[in-house]
Amino acid sequence: MNRIRSEQLYREALQHIVGGVNSPSRSFKAVGGGAPVFMKRARGAYFWDEDGNRYIDYLAAFGPIITGHAHPHITAAITRVAENGLLYGTPTELEIKMACMLKEAIPSMEKVRFVNSGTESVMTTIRIARAYTGRSKIIKFAGCYHGHSDLVLVAAGSGPSTLGMPDSAGVPFSIAQEVITVPFNDLDGLRKALDTCGENVAAVIVEPIVGNFGMVMPKPGFLEGLCRMAHDNGSLVIYDEIIAAFRFHYGSTQTFADIANHEAIKPDLIAIGKIIGGGLPIGAYGGSKEIMEQVAPLGPAYQAGTMAGNPASIAAGIACLEVLQGEGVYEEMDRLSAKLAEGLQASAYRYDVPLTINRIRGSLSTHFCDHPVTNYDEAQDTDGEAFAAFFRHMLDRNVNLAPSKYEAWFLTTAHTEQDIDDTLEAAEASFREMGK
Ligand code: PLP
Repeated sequence: MNRIRSEQLYREALQHIVGGVNSPSRSFKAVGGGAPVFMKRARGAYFWDEDGNRYIDYLAAFGPIITGHAHPHITAAITRVAENGLLYGTPTELEIKMACMLKEAIPSMEKVRFVNSGTESVMTTIRIARAYTGRSKIIKFAGCYHGHSDLVLVAAGSGPSTLGMPDSAGVPFSIAQEVITVPFNDLDGLRKALDTCGENVAAVIVEPIVGNFGMVMPKPGFLEGLCRMAHDNGSLVIYDEIIAAFRFHYGSTQTFADIANHEAIKPDLIAIGKIIGGGLPIGAYGGSKEIMEQVAPLGPAYQAGTMAGNPASIAAGIACLEVLQGEGVYEEMDRLSAKLAEGLQASAYRYDVPLTINRIRGSLSTHFCDHPVTNYDEAQDTDGEAFAAFFRHMLDRNVNLAPSKYEAWFLTTAHTEQDIDDTLEAAEASFREMGK
């Protein structure tokens, strides 16, 4: 396959943009280096690159694109907004509509605030938890990524792990000291952390369903135990559902049928993003009225944003949620991803390539190992070179995956049975090459 134009553009980008990319996860550093593919356009489940090659896309822009690219309902909503002015700096009626849609789908969100990214939304929930409790420390889980604000760039999966910098340079030691890291799915570890410095812990923050060291479900009882221990300790529980909200079903972890005891796993604060912007920049956070009233202009915790709640992101988000309300959309993604996972597993087995697949409804992750992956250590202990080889084989066969062994494959409402068949054919050839 010819990707000459991508290579030229990459050389040019390197002259002007740091590392040639505007987010490190887009580089190919973790899959052997070289030029990332420069995409020119996208529609439905497909990408076309600058050299005219077409790919089936499972990156979905790292999660937001659940309806497929350039969905007509979302495009029409953005166009309508653009014709009436993109940014007002005043409140709009659309924001109320979107807030109500979120509240209806996410019971723990009694009050909502919109921001521009997942990073901002998580960062603010931590500030609110600190304001509310008067404490400073947080407990997080190893490998969970919560954006790139200082406090959470400690043992932060996904991009930082891929690039081998779990603690970023530039994060002061004094800030890193405010964070205690515990293995995911490990209640004993959480108990020990709370026993050691519980009186200073403002919040326990978690991706309740992990999307940043592959897709990993909480073990039965893990979220209940976490919420109980945190609350007994006077700490708040923050769910980071930047990936999870609206990904597996229409709602959040707290209402997900695959997880039990919905009342016992209710978070105090929740941060969401990605899907709710329909492809435009967005984040949102929410929680009980009492806790959210800590936020300015009502309370002492400050958070603001020139672009926050901008009409284009809100309109795209509403349109995206409307598509997701359609009959059977999640069931179809689930059905196709089950077929995909079964096919991948069978192909890998035929060519003796060790492969563990974690699948949660319309998303899955491929771990080149022969053990289960339930926490970050297990996700690290997988064959990165095998993943890189598989990634490149698939790319050369017109299938676009995220360039990291820690990232997920996301299906969209645009993927078809034929796309899955074509992907499995590419995978069969890729595993055959790898098994040689
Ligand atoms: N939290 C989680 C779970 C994420 O996966 C991400 C991004 O991948 C973030 C927070 C940060 O979101 P953003 O990239 O929009 O700042």
